[in-house]
Amino acid sequence: MFQGDLLDATDDQLRAAVEEADILALLPALAHLTGDLALLRDDLRPDPAMLVQPDAGYTADQLETARTIATEALIRHRDAGAPPAPPVAPEALHALIEFLVGPATDEWYPVLREELALEGADHRAPGWSKAEVAPDRPFRVAVIGAGMSGLLAAHRLRQAGIDVTILEKDDDVGGTWYENTYPGCRVDVPNHFYSYSFAQRPDWPQFFSTQPALLDYFRRCADELGLRPLIRFGTEVVEARFDDTDQQWSVTTRSASGGDATERYDVVVSAVGQLNRPKYPDLPGVGEFAGPAFHSARWDHDVDLTGKRVAVIGTGASAVQLIPEIAAEVGELLVFQRTPPWIAPTPNYHDDLPEGLRWLMAQVPDYAHWDRLWQFWKMHEGLLPAAVVDPEWPDQERSMSILNELVRQMLTMHLEAEFTDPELRAKMIPPYPPLAKRVVRDNGSWPRALQRPNVSVHTEPIEAITEKGIRTADGEEHVVDVVIYGTGFTASEFLTPMRVVGTGGVDLHERWGGDARAYLGVTIPDFPNLFLLYGPNTNIVINGSIIYFSECEVHYLTEAIRLLLAGGHRSMDCRADVHDAYNERIDAANRTMVWGAAEVNSWYRNKKGRVAQNWPFSLLEYWQQTREPDPADYTLR
Ligand code: NAP
Repeated sequence: MFQGDLLDATDDQLRAAVEEADILALLPALAHLTGDLALLRDDLRPDPAMLVQPDAGYTADQLETARTIATEALIRHRDAGAPPAPPVAPEALHALIEFLVGPATDEWYPVLREELALEGADHRAPGWSKAEVAPDRPFRVAVIGAGMSGLLAAHRLRQAGIDVTILEKDDDVGGTWYENTYPGCRVDVPNHFYSYSFAQRPDWPQFFSTQPALLDYFRRCADELGLRPLIRFGTEVVEARFDDTDQQWSVTTRSASGGDATERYDVVVSAVGQLNRPKYPDLPGVGEFAGPAFHSARWDHDVDLTGKRVAVIGTGASAVQLIPEIAAEVGELLVFQRTPPWIAPTPNYHDDLPEGLRWLMAQVPDYAHWDRLWQFWKMHEGLLPAAVVDPEWPDQERSMSILNELVRQMLTMHLEAEFTDPELRAKMIPPYPPLAKRVVRDNGSWPRALQRPNVSVHTEPIEAITEKGIRTADGEEHVVDVVIYGTGFTASEFLTPMRVVGTGGVDLHERWGGDARAYLGVTIPDFPNLFLLYGPNTNIVINGSIIYFSECEVHYLTEAIRLLLAGGHRSMDCRADVHDAYNERIDAANRTMVWGAAEVNSWYRNKKGRVAQNWPFSLLEYWQQTREPDPADYTLR
């Protein structure tokens, strides 16, 4: 039904496509396309208090009205020959954005304008170039990693005319999306919003696309941005050492063939990610199992699971995605669960975009951009208020505030409805407050898989991995053919296994002692000209997307390099007092959040018990703090 372009569409086709659209994003898209701001009617403004409701809580009447005026606008646009959008004046853009976000616009406006990136604008491109500020100074930057944040950093630095080399241990770009190939792997934030602001695409196949689509996106970005020639694949950084004499980094790499090489760089950017070094459980016998055993992030596609007795250890986000995919294929599936995950019901989690919506995204210029902005806005706070601890709240074991309790009740009702067997249900309802760990999305496939006759859930603690399988604390040995570790990543061991040596020979991992900290997640005292992306305390739990954080960090990085070059400084080193005060503030705030206060295992805490992963404040605050380095925060040499 939805073929051809807009000029050929009938009125009925337009009406049918609008039925499938996210109408709130379509209205400003059409107002922009047609220049008709009268489409943004006051009675159709979304209620800011209803953002997380479907269609932002529109009544049936509002929905009908919105669809009618959108269809009529499309018909008029078609009849006018589908002309391009008129240039949008700044006041008009403000009005368009304000329609979606309401009166919060003023503080947020610059961020939203950047996220929207209307008409191909790239507001976050560096507003300077090396040719202007330091044309004659030789200056080289090494970016470690060609995943989401490494590609982004290299692109921005190159836009500023900086000489960049990307050192990548793998044979392709994509980072976590390259390495995780387990069945069912997919993104868990709405896909249109999980993309770079400057490389939005209107043709995501699904609301939450699968790993191949994400990998394809990052590959295409690398190609289209011309980044591949900058990348040395199969090249792992083993050591970065700062030389106090010439204020440069010596970076030692190991190639796939085993040869080492050392090169000098003025700046090193770590873009190594947090969630890619597999964590195997700290159990006796790991490695002694005689059959095939592999981690979810190192999926062994040569192992045929058909008809086999398979054990999966762990029930985090990775396991919840892969278990439903393999449950029907294996003979028997034994799931070993230590802590049950809270599940966020997401009915469209596996769905393709409906045809009409895909067609509209392709036909209405910038509709995909408005849709992305709308997703961004709906998610910018998300359930964050429900993660704030109320110290007066009684019974802090199960929930930590009235809002947190409401979320707990809603999610519990969902689990109770999905798990009909009382014994299994008792295992699957988490005994800890929601939002203390990452809430896992599911469309019903998780309970369906666990309730299959060939699947069993084991909650007895695992005592050891044996040659034949898994022995639990009750003494039973569960004999299996294959063991799959869905046991997560060594997320707290930032920058491992690289050796990083700063000024005066200080070793980063000795300094951190397993408790990584940085200023803004980016810079570390005594490690001049080293910048981290997705560093300590830059992860979000239930709002936003990590790409947003990377864009903020990379903005700060490029501004820091401008500071170095424009001031003729060789290096910049974060002041210890600034760093320490910042981290005290982060720690204090994390203690007021459910993920910092609740007593439950999670990868958000490091071995010292500190939350080393999460950002406890608003997305806006991170943007504001990363506008540019304050020279007073640094020792400039
Ligand atoms: P994870 O959340 O750390 O889950 C690891 C699982 O293994 C947990 O259930 C953990 O139990 C269990 N486990 C660890 N050691 C164990 C032991 N000795 N005995 C029994 N069970 C053990 O790891 P993940 O599932 O790979 O996810 C990590 C993060 O990656 C996610 O939170 C998310 O941010 C990201 N991710 C995202 C997606 C997506 O976009 N959809 C998909 C996958 C991953 P405990 O809970 O008791 O520790």
